Amino acid sequence: MSLFPKVRFLLSVAGADQFPPDEGREVAFAGRSNAGKSSAINTVLGRHALARTSRTPGRTKLLNFFELEPGRRIIDLPGYGYAQASPAEKRQWTALIDSLPERQCLCGLFLIVDIRRGIADTDQQLIEWAAAAGWQVHVLLTKADKLNQRDRAAALKEASKTLGAEVTAQVFSAPDGIGVQEAQKALIRLFSS
Ligand code: GDP
Repeated sequence: MSLFPKVRFLLSVAGADQFPPDEGREVAFAGRSNAGKSSAINTVLGRHALARTSRTPGRTKLLNFFELEPGRRIIDLPGYGYAQASPAEKRQWTALIDSLPERQCLCGLFLIVDIRRGIADTDQQLIEWAAAAGWQVHVLLTKADKLNQRDRAAALKEASKTLGAEVTAQVFSAPDGIGVQEAQKALIRLFSS
């Protein structure tokens, strides 16, 4: 049985005024456009088509809330770093992101990074922002199926060195199911942090 059998889509919001009540615990999922965030959400939560996956980078513009069980939610943040995003889209992203640290219930960040790209400056900025807000950060190095064992291990070592001791990281693959249980455990740990 799924670890989160009652998971459901809650709502999409375009601004902080539409957020659900600031109660319970929340973990945000973020990543560069096309990193594999939607696939990771679907796989970790065990529901095939919960978050939309798309071959068009930057398609998800709004914040989507999912409820795992009463009082435990995840927030699917819009993908960032898409070169063709308009200035208006970038402003909307920044405004939404800036409003998040005010949420008392937000306690963790799951950062989705394409293992072949490694930790980029934009990822680092997001991690620093999350750390300043007091959130635990866990990094999924996804699309691990694209690398052989040796390159995977090397990428994890390199990322861990860049991330430092406060941030946890693991390899992950949505289609191959690599690291799914580890990611589920990390998510539960973040909810209790
Ligand atoms: P998002 O934009 O970050 O939400 O990324 P998506 O989940 O929509 O994935 C972007 C593309 O990468 C899609 O074509 C997915 O099928 C593919 N993808 C996502 N995760 C993986 C993975 O773990 N391995 C492989 N090989 N492809 C993946």
